[in-house]
Amino acid sequence: MKVNQLSKRLQKVAEYVPKDARLADIGSDHAYLPVALTLQNKINFAIAGEVVPGPFEAAKKQVAENNLEEKIIVRLADGLAAVKESDNISAVTICGMGGVLIRDILQSGKDVLSGDERLILQPNVAERQLRTWLVENKYEIIDEAIIRENHKTYEIIVAEKGNAVSYSDKDLFFGPLLIEEKNPIFIQKWNHKLEKSKSILTNLKQGQATDQKIHRLETEIAWIQEVLADESN
Ligand code: SAM
Repeated sequence: MKVNQLSKRLQKVAEYVPKDARLADIGSDHAYLPVALTLQNKINFAIAGEVVPGPFEAAKKQVAENNLEEKIIVRLADGLAAVKESDNISAVTICGMGGVLIRDILQSGKDVLSGDERLILQPNVAERQLRTWLVENKYEIIDEAIIRENHKTYEIIVAEKGNAVSYSDKDLFFGPLLIEEKNPIFIQKWNHKLEKSKSILTNLKQGQATDQKIHRLETEIAWIQEVLADESN
């Protein structure tokens, strides 16, 4: 692997990893992120955790090919079970999965976390559910990014335990910092979502959906319209 070979998505994640962090990359298919960060001399220690044997072997191979076995330990484990107390982890990355899976990994591994780690999370979907878990567990969202790569939109959420912050449902839905910034990728994402949500609503109304489900979607559509209208004013 070459130093600058990361995808745009993972390079953005890498930017949020503090210099000299002791990193746990959970779901580390090919160990791309820890290997690139080590080659960039940004970190000196990482755990690459993988639960599936194929990607685990791929991660081990990548680490060996780059002669980084002394700096990156690859472990076959479910979620945060890859981390030991003696690893003294200061940053955790969990990327390229659904937000619900990331949330479940954090929830099941809660006892492994000291609370001092920076979490850098890149959910492919279900960002709201993940932000809700963070808030319920007293994390503050300290940074967020939205990027586009290969015609897909990705969000990155950076959280640390800190000041008790309360977020509205709308903030959790859009991302408290993304909604402040409203950059062109954010606007594009929500224009697209608006069309999709309207068509889902039409189908729900013709089917057997509960009033609660319909009401929830109507609320979300109203929020999206409000945010997009604010932007065009
Ligand atoms: N993190 C890399 C990225 O962002 O490019 C790889 C993403 S890949 C789509 C998701 C990886 O997470 C897969 O290799 C999968 O086996 C792994 N994974 C899923 N659930 C996991 C869990 N509970 N613990 C560890 N790894 C997991």
